[in-house]
Amino acid sequence: LLLPAAGWLEKEGTMTNSERRISYLPKVIDAPGEALPDVEILWRFAQAMDYEGFDYTNASEVYDEHCLLTKGTNIDISGLSYKRLKEEGSFQWPVPHKTHMGTPRLFTDFQFYTNDKKAHFNAPRSLYNKSEQVDADFPLILNTGRVRDQWHTRTKTGKVKRLLTHIPQPYLEMNKVDAYLRKLKDGDVAVIKSRRGQVQVKVKINFDIRERVVFLPMHWGKVLNDDFGRANNITNDLVDPISKEPDFKYCAVQVERFTKPKQKIIVVGAGAAAYRFIQSFREKNKKDELHVFSREDDPFYNRVLLPEYVSDELSWEALEKLKKGELQKLDVTLHPGIGIVDIDTRAKQVTDAVGFIHSYDLLVMATGSRAFVPSEIQFDLPGCFTMRERGDADKLKRYQRQTGLPSEEQHVVIVGGGLLGLELAAALKKININISIVQRAPRLMERQLDRVASRL
Ligand SMILES: Cc1cc2nc3c(=O)[nH]c(=O)nc-3n(C[C@H](O)[C@H](O)[C@H](O)COP(=O)(O)OP(=O)(O)OC[C@H]3O[C@@H](n4cnc5c(N)ncnc54)[C@H](O)[C@@H]3O)c2cc1C
Repeated sequence: LLLPAAGWLEKEGTMTNSERRISYLPKVIDAPGEALPDVEILWRFAQAMDYEGFDYTNASEVYDEHCLLTKGTNIDISGLSYKRLKEEGSFQWPVPHKTHMGTPRLFTDFQFYTNDKKAHFNAPRSLYNKSEQVDADFPLILNTGRVRDQWHTRTKTGKVKRLLTHIPQPYLEMNKVDAYLRKLKDGDVAVIKSRRGQVQVKVKINFDIRERVVFLPMHWGKVLNDDFGRANNITNDLVDPISKEPDFKYCAVQVERFTKPKQKIIVVGAGAAAYRFIQSFREKNKKDELHVFSREDDPFYNRVLLPEYVSDELSWEALEKLKKGELQKLDVTLHPGIGIVDIDTRAKQVTDAVGFIHSYDLLVMATGSRAFVPSEIQFDLPGCFTMRERGDADKLKRYQRQTGLPSEEQHVVIVGGGLLGLELAAALKKININISIVQRAPRLMERQLDRVASRL
């Protein structure tokens, strides 16, 4: 049985915070549909079951009964009611009678809640600190804690974009002197090691934190399967023997600058994405080995302009993106005309079309898309083409020439009235070729344009 319950703004009630302060919370908006406050669900259910003592008509009556139940106890609030809370504001318990103004401070009479009324200090007899001590290998004390806009492990706050603008990622706060000794600059990635593990985050350097103490927020656990910022990789699992309080806020660590090992990166495909990747990657990293495998003989050209190449409006050179000497400058090893036919992600190896095996540390797939050919089309018949690569364009141009017909007598049927079909149609139209477009949808470019724009 599922009963719809009202949310916190949809019902009245009280809330008590950790300084014993009780506040009245008014209902602000109506609950949707048949949703009711939990307490009303309970009393209505009890009434329906013919239980005695549930003849309430409102939440205030329930609260009166709750207050009476506390009479004579240490948390006596028998002097409270919704009426008082609404009219006089919040109260700190105990509030033992109707004119009592609440108790801002407990035990001012030194009568404690113990059998002999005296305060008992549960100090262990043999008191000694078992917290991990710093030494030459782990000379810094790690403190963990919170940042303003995140809560615990960010299950909700981590999904709120606005909250992430405050502090979007984990960091290590460090004193300038400690950072200087480790050659760390603000924003550098550091490895923080303890006897149990390590994390890897950027450093924030200032004089706010004292020397030999570093601070790491505890909110970030595993993110996208990586635990680079998970504080508990390094914290100690020691607990206080009596309170069981964990010693998460104190452990010995060492911090050092992160040095990325040299890696071999293989990029599969030499299209637009791969081109942008190698350029931006090299802006940040001059060290890693970069290899690009291109199934096409011609890498890195402007595919978008293929229609203009087909109509001879542009020469092939106009489509080429690579400037002379650019690959050498970017320090990229290109394998033109060699596709990758197999990937073994466990062994981190790829096999190329010639049969050679290449190992990699990182693999970037930039293989683009393929032309979709409906299965009914007999694509092996002469005169059928797709338009995706230079090879397709050259084949079409060759075929046109071989017909020996002047362009006004040539007729091209384009299957698909989307962006690519129309671009090719426009380019061929310019050289007076007759065009028919076969479009399954009732209008052209139906995915990109609305009805009016599609008619233009
Ligand atoms: C005719 C045409 C006109 C277009 N017009 C426009 C336009 O006007 N505006 C627009 O925004 N977009 C346009 N596009 C789309 C645009 O070109 C693509 O979105 C863009 O090229 C995608 O870049 P990419 O790097 O992901 O893939 P691609 O540029 O397609 O590159 C992928 C490369 O990977 C290679 N490859 C695939 N598999 C392997 C393998 N196993 N081993 C090695 N290499 C492999 C392919 O041969 C190809 O060279 C057009 C596309 C075409 C075909």
